[in-house]
Amino acid sequence: MIVLKIGGSDGINYDFIADDVAALVKEGQPLIVIHGGSALTNKVAKQLGHPPQFVTSVSGFTSRRTDRRTLEIFEMVYCGQMNKGFVEKLQMRGVNAVGLSGIDGRIWEGTRKSAIRIIENGRKRVLRDDYTGKVEKVNVDLLQTLLNSGTLPVLTPPAISYEGEAINVDGDRAAAATAAAFQAESLIILSNVPGLLENFPDESSLIRHIPKAKIDQFMSVAEDRMKKKVMGAQEALAQGIGKIVFADGRVEQPVRRAMDGKGTVIGG
Ligand code: ADP
Repeated sequence: MIVLKIGGSDGINYDFIADDVAALVKEGQPLIVIHGGSALTNKVAKQLGHPPQFVTSVSGFTSRRTDRRTLEIFEMVYCGQMNKGFVEKLQMRGVNAVGLSGIDGRIWEGTRKSAIRIIENGRKRVLRDDYTGKVEKVNVDLLQTLLNSGTLPVLTPPAISYEGEAINVDGDRAAAATAAAFQAESLIILSNVPGLLENFPDESSLIRHIPKAKIDQFMSVAEDRMKKKVMGAQEALAQGIGKIVFADGRVEQPVRRAMDGKGTVIGG
């Protein structure tokens, strides 16, 4: 099993990815696809007059401020245009893809954070009306039923809290939880960069391999959004995934290239 996470930043080529996924599915490669949608969400949120806001937690991680209105816009984009758009691309290529969010059938379940401690203008503050959380449980039975029926699951945040509320979760970490639940052979994370860069944005500074024991040291190389990817990789390794690859989602045959080790290979 390969779990493939496709980012949502500008520059990612969804047609190249769909071509590659379709070819792999036809060869019999078991796959689960997970995608994001952050760039389009930012754009639509601005158009709808509710511009995106990002908060920094006391531990230094940045995340999208998700009030109720943001959650609605998030769902329009992630579960709507992004999910259905990618499912359509796969259907056009003869793959029977099924697009679902983590809410559907409680595919991704977790705890809603009752309060997040953030830093704002140098001061600590507590947010209580945020709909965010973390995936803790994956509905393997439902996903396995889909796979057994010859369909390809295409998953996207949000997830669902134990109380039944939609919660915004990080896609990379949801992908890590999914890969762990299936004991996947590898987790491939495609983005609009060739992998983890030693000197971002210098693409020639690509870090090609990070041994399992050294991942901690690379946390400081990653800035803002890349930090969560490294954290997801760390979680996946801790849960027994042998190999995580951060690779380029802008090029032809991006999945095959990642499978061949082009990008940043973590563990392996
Ligand atoms: P996606 O939406 O594709 O999942 P993100 O936008 O969340 O991706 O994360 C990828 C981004 O992380 C890159 O576009 C880049 O701007 C940023 N980044 C920060 N530090 C690094 C780094 N050291 N190496 C690569 N990318 C980095």
